[in-house]
Amino acid sequence: MRFILDCTLVFNKPLEGVDVRDILLKSSSVLEKGAPKGEGAKIESSKLEGDRLMLRITSGRHVRPHDAVFRMKNLLAAELGKKHHVGVREVRAEKYKIEFELEKEPKKKIDIAYAKKLEFKEKNCVLELENLDEEFLQRNYVDRMISLIQEKVDKQYYEGKEEHWELIWSSEEKKHAWDKDPSLEMEKRDWIMHRGRGQWIFGPIATKMMKTMEQIVVDELLKPLDVDEVVIPKAVTWDVWKKSGHAKNLYGEIYYLCPPQSRDPELWEEVIDVYKITGEVPTELVKERIKEPIGGMCYAQCPPFWPYLAGKMIAEESLPLKVFDRSGTSMRYESGGIHGIERVDEFHRIEFVWIGYPEQVERLHKEIVEHYKKIFNGILELEWRMAFVTPWFMAQEGMVGIADEEKKIGTIDFEAYMPYKGSREESEWLEFQNASNNGDKYPKGFNVKAQGGELYSGCTGIGLERWLAAFTAQKGLDPENWPKGFRKRLGELPGEIRFL
Ligand code: ATP
Ligand code: ZN
Ligand code: MG
Repeated sequence: MRFILDCTLVFNKPLEGVDVRDILLKSSSVLEKGAPKGEGAKIESSKLEGDRLMLRITSGRHVRPHDAVFRMKNLLAAELGKKHHVGVREVRAEKYKIEFELEKEPKKKIDIAYAKKLEFKEKNCVLELENLDEEFLQRNYVDRMISLIQEKVDKQYYEGKEEHWELIWSSEEKKHAWDKDPSLEMEKRDWIMHRGRGQWIFGPIATKMMKTMEQIVVDELLKPLDVDEVVIPKAVTWDVWKKSGHAKNLYGEIYYLCPPQSRDPELWEEVIDVYKITGEVPTELVKERIKEPIGGMCYAQCPPFWPYLAGKMIAEESLPLKVFDRSGTSMRYESGGIHGIERVDEFHRIEFVWIGYPEQVERLHKEIVEHYKKIFNGILELEWRMAFVTPWFMAQEGMVGIADEEKKIGTIDFEAYMPYKGSREESEWLEFQNASNNGDKYPKGFNVKAQGGELYSGCTGIGLERWLAAFTAQKGLDPENWPKGFRKRLGELPGEIRFL
């Protein structure tokens, strides 16, 4: 690693009659503090001009120049302050060049914000930055940029790797009622209706089916495991996603949340006028009158629950803590991927979150899977399978090793065969829910503690549109073909609504 920083320290007045050479000579002990002998930062050159001191500071891996420059600032302030009443007003850098070795050679070009230049020669990386202010240097942005470059290269190697999907259980093959696309067929019968982007109106029949499924979750999973219901906000602010880690990557899938600049009727008068005159909502004018996004609509249900626990110590008797939410929809911008009710932009999901000591979280994860087996085998009689997958954030945070070997931390995806999509072997199965052991990610991110040791958490998201899609794809729309256990819970179906 090699760092070369060209920077300027600006004083509050010109340094007339002051000799800084002595101070610069003294600086080596300060610039070496904490580093092995001879391996600290060095001042390669210096030039004093009026009220500014220009320095070229270099280093290897120890005492990097963006740190060294502040040691110089403090040293100068201490030496000059008392005697000459001179202080350092500002620190800035004209140029910063960093050369370092990556673990692996990048597979393709990488870009990074703030870089003036970024070049690779095999594993060697040269990063150049220009015109950096004090905040940039002091807040270690440079170190984060180096890690981020490394992360981007790692990601190139991780992408599309099959080993993070591993089959762990499979039901027997079943005979299915049909091989039609259930969304299309339900639409034909007016059971459901597509509205706007990836959003559906569920008529009385489809609703009754989904509500029955929800009740099955309550009766066969949540009640037996003694899970309490909570209500969690569905508009999520940045502070939550910063702590949950979602702020690192969600942006392309968020429905953003923008409050108006003000509720003053004058601000909105033109918008209202244009609408009343043209009959069209002038979205350009609306855009000019709203604030930057304060966050977005619920993406996963658990993050906005965590502020309830943030910074607190959970009492022994409350562990493991088990709650669930079904108080509103989640929204994701799925772009071109939307398909029927299988992949929608606004969906209904029940999410169950559990928090406890690692053994408690692990045990519950297993119990939850057993309850699901009873539901899918005994009540819905689905053809389905479970796969162990490792989400990207875990690979990124070095948890992948643990996940791979012991299959404790990570996600189990539940997938259903969709006959209309083709053969079992070649078609894509539908992930209709998941159950994850998230390790210490959330307790750490939100600073939640317990007296008896480390805390882990898990969550399972039950997508009701996906349950309905999987069920109808296999069982069809004729109740005669539906499993007895489901029909018993469903009772009488409402009549179809007929349109003339
Ligand atoms: P996919 O790979 O299908 O996009 P995901 O990995 O993004 O799914 P998760 O973030 O694990 O999904 O969300 C948990 C659950 O939420 C899913 O198992 C599914 O039931 C539901 N879900 C997620 N995205 C959608 C969507 N666009 N439409 C309907 N349900 C969804
Ligand atoms: Zn969750
Ligand atoms: Mg997705």
